[in-house]
Amino acid sequence: MQIADIIRKKKQGQELSKEEIYFFVNGYTSENIPDYQISALLMAIWFTGMTKEETSHLTMAFVESGDTMDLSAIPGIKVDKHSTGGVGDKISLIVLPVVSALGIPVAKISGKGLGHTGGTLDKLEAIPGFTTEIKLEDFISYVQSSNVALAGQTGDLTPADKKFYALRDVTETVDSIPLIAASIMSKKLASGSDAIVLDVKTGEGAFMKDLEHSRKLARTMVEIGNHLGRQTVALLTDMNEPLGREIGNANEVMEAVEILKGKKIKGLYDVALEISSYMIWLGGAAGSHEEARPLVEEVIHSGKALAKFRELIKNQGGNPAFIDDYSLLPQTRNSQEILADQSGYIKGITATDIGYAAMHLGAGRQTKEDQLDYAAGIHLNKLVGDKVEPGDVLCVLHFNDKDPASAAKLAKKAFIIGEAPPAHESYILDVIVE
Ligand code: URA
Repeated sequence: MQIADIIRKKKQGQELSKEEIYFFVNGYTSENIPDYQISALLMAIWFTGMTKEETSHLTMAFVESGDTMDLSAIPGIKVDKHSTGGVGDKISLIVLPVVSALGIPVAKISGKGLGHTGGTLDKLEAIPGFTTEIKLEDFISYVQSSNVALAGQTGDLTPADKKFYALRDVTETVDSIPLIAASIMSKKLASGSDAIVLDVKTGEGAFMKDLEHSRKLARTMVEIGNHLGRQTVALLTDMNEPLGREIGNANEVMEAVEILKGKKIKGLYDVALEISSYMIWLGGAAGSHEEARPLVEEVIHSGKALAKFRELIKNQGGNPAFIDDYSLLPQTRNSQEILADQSGYIKGITATDIGYAAMHLGAGRQTKEDQLDYAAGIHLNKLVGDKVEPGDVLCVLHFNDKDPASAAKLAKKAFIIGEAPPAHESYILDVIVE
């Protein structure tokens, strides 16, 4: 088999066979095929796409390139959740304790944030003492005893995806639906759960800017998951504005705790409850997501979800005392208020601007090597639909050593003020169930 023939075939829009797909994935991973040929192939895929079968083979070739997690020692249907990435997205911090408190095992492998979007791993590591670097035996034993654990990658999962992703990043081929779908789904499949709820963020602050592309990505991932034996559902949720009032790490943990204490912060509460309900349904604890909803509300109302969050933190070395005293979380020395200079209503808060502003304050990474300041972040004082007068505080920047000038400029630009309040749009834009 020759790589040039595979490139030519794809350039002409023909379907590649399973053998051809495994040939180029394994050849590149073992460094027998050079970057420049795979770059050409990726660009051909970007232009001509892939069929459902090709995308499934690519997914499995990524999965089989490395280790897979064996969760068979954990009884019950293990349900995973994945977000395609957003600003202020602390949904996992809420759904993990909610779902596990209802008896569904959640063994979650999570990643670090990059650019304007945050990562669940970073947020949890803002909790004093909490570690996501745990041994596989401990990870499994926490899920057996508490129904929940969260770790960074253990072992060598999907090494081929890592290589391909790095090459896509520098060849402008990230935004290809089959390539994104295979990349995400290979990691989910290798992580070993039986069922998966995908949160496909849609809008200005997300990978997928419009509903049409989002639906296409969601459908592709749902088809791959189901085809490969994992029940998969995708929710399309709004990412035109940040989720909730807090953007950062320690402050996002605090906001997630507020939801677990029963606070109904709009957008955040809606999305967290809907995703939890679908997870409960897939986990078999309710006959439908509608039936699951009151169970989710009750587990929060009763305090059981918050108790589960304490247990998760304790298991993984953290001190849950901050739940009752937020001053025990990392704090910043400096803050700056961003003020409105006109009256009206908040028509929009541009998620990307807020995400990059938080990154400039130290809450996010510009490059993979950057160190985070867990305390840094932004508090949104006004949300979409709120009335404002000149001089009102729109948001507050929290920071330590960084110069806040560029963050302040971005944060000010993020708030779009108009004469009338915007029409309310739903936070759940669509659900893809096969
Ligand atoms: N996230 C991934 O893991 N892979 C992609 O290709 C895009 C987003």
